[in-house]
Amino acid sequence: MKRKSTRAIFPGSFDPITNGHLDVINRGIKLFDELVVAVGRSPVKNQLFTPEERVEMIAELIADIPGVSVESFDGLTVEYAAKKKADAILRGLRSLTDVQYEFKLAMTNRSVAGIETVFVMTSEQYGFTSSTLIREVASLGGNVSNLIPKNVYARLQQRLKSVTRDP
Ligand code: ADP
Repeated sequence: MKRKSTRAIFPGSFDPITNGHLDVINRGIKLFDELVVAVGRSPVKNQLFTPEERVEMIAELIADIPGVSVESFDGLTVEYAAKKKADAILRGLRSLTDVQYEFKLAMTNRSVAGIETVFVMTSEQYGFTSSTLIREVASLGGNVSNLIPKNVYARLQQRLKSVTRDP
């Protein structure tokens, strides 16, 4: 009998996508037949890239990974997961602090929608990588080139140039 194919969504802000997120995607697609990277459209604090720009950057990065796609979504993650007929939500873990927050989120999502969350732990080298820190460090002129993919770094440079040029 043919095995039912499995699908997960990987929701997040991805502002911008980092090498840590990519690591989670590469690990996640080994567990599921299909993985949809889902960029939340709800406004993030100190947003640097629009949801469209975030989707574009991710699309460039996953083009060669079979089974992985990207789109943006509005509203509740669990409603989006149901719409996509996802079997699970994929999330990444960096530290025990992540576990505390993610545990609450996963329990809430399971109790309101009955959906399971599957966690993968990132490579040690990305344990301290976060989009928020990348935005902060980059805006102060720090070098974040080894924490984000090349296409993201190029866009980040461009964006910060135009931000500092604006009055
Ligand atoms: P959110 O705003 O929903 O936390 P993020 O884009 O910050 O969205 O993160 C999406 C997911 O990726 C979360 O599960 C987060 O823990 C995970 N993640 C973020 N950075 C890393 C990293 N460096 N390594 C592993 N997982 C990460």
